[in-house]
Amino acid sequence: MTGMERYDRQLRVEGWDQNILLSSTVFIAGVGAIGGEVAKNLAMMGVGKLILADYDYVELSNLSRQLLFRDQDIGKGKAVVAAERLREINPHVSVEAYGQDIRELGEEVLGRTDIIFSCLDNWASRRWLNSVAVSLEKPLVDGAMNGFYGNVQVVFPRKTACLECQSINLIPREEKLAECTLKRRRPEHLVNDLKEHGITVGLEEAEKLFQLNIKTIYDIKYTRLDMIAELADDQILKLIEELRSRLMPPMPAVQSVASVVAGIMTTIGMQILHQGRLGKPPTGLIVYDALNSRLSRVKISRDPNCIVCSENHSAPLEFSFDLNETVLKLKETLASVFGFPDPEVLYAGRRLDDEDVLAKVGVKDRDIIYVSTTRLFEPLAIRIVSSS
Ligand SMILES: [Zn+2]
Repeated sequence: MTGMERYDRQLRVEGWDQNILLSSTVFIAGVGAIGGEVAKNLAMMGVGKLILADYDYVELSNLSRQLLFRDQDIGKGKAVVAAERLREINPHVSVEAYGQDIRELGEEVLGRTDIIFSCLDNWASRRWLNSVAVSLEKPLVDGAMNGFYGNVQVVFPRKTACLECQSINLIPREEKLAECTLKRRRPEHLVNDLKEHGITVGLEEAEKLFQLNIKTIYDIKYTRLDMIAELADDQILKLIEELRSRLMPPMPAVQSVASVVAGIMTTIGMQILHQGRLGKPPTGLIVYDALNSRLSRVKISRDPNCIVCSENHSAPLEFSFDLNETVLKLKETLASVFGFPDPEVLYAGRRLDDEDVLAKVGVKDRDIIYVSTTRLFEPLAIRIVSSS
């Protein structure tokens, strides 16, 4: 019992099994306000292994609500600092930290986890992580907040609705219909798009952005600066940062809301790990309205045709398209139908070029093509039905 003394009070909870926790592994995507709290809770409670991923760096404005960071951590990688603090909080848990985009982590990392905690601040990564959870059949606990509102959704792959099932209602249109990175775009298009957002940039500046393959508002928002740092001068990097802060002003966020959302997520995590001994985890969307101290549950149903969790995988989605059209046209259509900003089309083991005409590269009526995007873990199979 000696090693268990640390956990004495929670061992007194009916149904609790510390050995389950000690032998569990959890993955926490994002260690900001919510993720830091979730990680702290899980470490204190004694979950055997925590895997953290966050490519962000600590900033002064994080310190009002990201409890794992101190003033002296400003400028350091969040994942590494968080891991150090968590080891201090509970030296008996093992912590693995990845300071990179979660989309660079493969099955060898994500496949080892019992639960995936999604504590991300953008839909692009949340959609990707949701599709990982479904592919690897891992329960996903997703949490988010905006000002005094928080929400939590639990996904039991192919049993309850995934984040994509109700994407029409839940994923903001702007995030879903992000522009396709199109070859035929020109710098003046970007100038005009920015003008629509009330931002003026010169054509010369837009040309410089194009040289870095930044062609759309979406690219300005999400291109990783560390990836282009070698190609770009300081002036252009500064411009991107400035445009980004105007296009995506940081959301209001309050520590007390983060800790409630994280508390709900952690408790659900305990229920999942205990497999029924601590009651059945709630399903649907849990909404926390902090100023009214109100928690509501919204029922969310599965979409039988969901592109991520539909069971009809043996019969790929049918998609009507003119085979005399180019791959670029197909990409544009896929982008607007599915909300994939960056589709790539794979056919017979190779990636098709934008200029390729489908019929000329051998695509026939009812052939299957695969579409890959940074929004999905695995390429989506589509059966092309000729409309020509
Ligand atoms: Zn789904």
